[in-house]
Amino acid sequence: MSILVTGGAGYIGSHTVVELLNSGREVVVIDNFSNSKPEVLENIKKITGKDFKFYKINYLDQKELEKVFEENKIEAVMNFAGYKAVGESTKKPLEYYENNISGAIVLLKTMQKYNVKKFIFSSSATVYGEPEQIPITEECKTGGTTNPYGTTKLFIEQILQDLYKSDNSWDIAILRYFNPVGAHESGLIGEEPQGIPNNLMPYIVRVASGELEQLSIFGNDYNTPDGTGVRDYIHVVDLAKGHIKALEKLEKEGKGIFVYNLGTGTGYSVLDMVKAFEEATEQNVNYKIAERRPGDIATCYSDPTKAKEELGWETSKTLKDMCKDSWRYIQNKKGANID
Ligand code: UDP
Repeated sequence: MSILVTGGAGYIGSHTVVELLNSGREVVVIDNFSNSKPEVLENIKKITGKDFKFYKINYLDQKELEKVFEENKIEAVMNFAGYKAVGESTKKPLEYYENNISGAIVLLKTMQKYNVKKFIFSSSATVYGEPEQIPITEECKTGGTTNPYGTTKLFIEQILQDLYKSDNSWDIAILRYFNPVGAHESGLIGEEPQGIPNNLMPYIVRVASGELEQLSIFGNDYNTPDGTGVRDYIHVVDLAKGHIKALEKLEKEGKGIFVYNLGTGTGYSVLDMVKAFEEATEQNVNYKIAERRPGDIATCYSDPTKAKEELGWETSKTLKDMCKDSWRYIQNKKGANID
């Protein structure tokens, strides 16, 4: 039996494929490289020393998807295919709704047709909108998303709830990610935003490497200890391991729809991140204080207790690991060696 991973060449997908292979599973990956590169697949093989099946297809193409289900014994599906750039989603809402929501529907319909009913979905802390309380628990109300990207996550969560209500033989895990950063410690896979990054860590890395001139810190007048925004940064390898734990739960206990926050439970400010990065890498990060970014909230961090209690999952990587690994990946890509 295999685990089907959609978007397996992407940032979080590729790290999860590594953990799946390391845990001895058979994996089938689909990806259309819309925001990733084929060399990622080779690097996954280098890291793990293991092989897996790959199909270059778009998950919106039901015919092609059916072929994958015909040719493999799929036990469960992890869905990482999806557009994820917040800013872009406000300019191209239809593309985001089509790719993320229609893609999920096509995938779920195909699963239903082949009686594959274990599904792990990549959601996001953005579904909490302006959070009701900090730290955020899974019981906090959702809604009030401020961009189409976040709304696609919210709508897919609702679709999954409705699907489960209609047929409780599904086993579904909805994983709400906080702020994934870092890279595999090998430096072979990592995050590769196209163009100028929107997210903090990729931006810091590019300023340190001289690719970008200066980091703009979006506001220092928030109601936080140093005035800059506070987030729950989680190492992508810890995050990937959370998926394995969720899969184990669906396999062992199953029968249900479960929602988990995947975060560390600790919040760091933008200035904390800059300082931690400078210390971990001995690089200088040039920054200035700029205007607040529309749609940003002051503070967002998780209460990860539920995932700890029910999945036996906890993060183990430190902020220093997150900074060092992000830096190593970008240096590796440039052909330099650091450590
Ligand atoms: N941020 C910043 N400058 C940047 C990018 C981000 O000051 O160039 C801040 C942003 O305002 C927020 C935090 O860094 O407080 C994390 O932003 P990111 O876009 O990485 O994630 P978000 O939590 O907004 O999804």
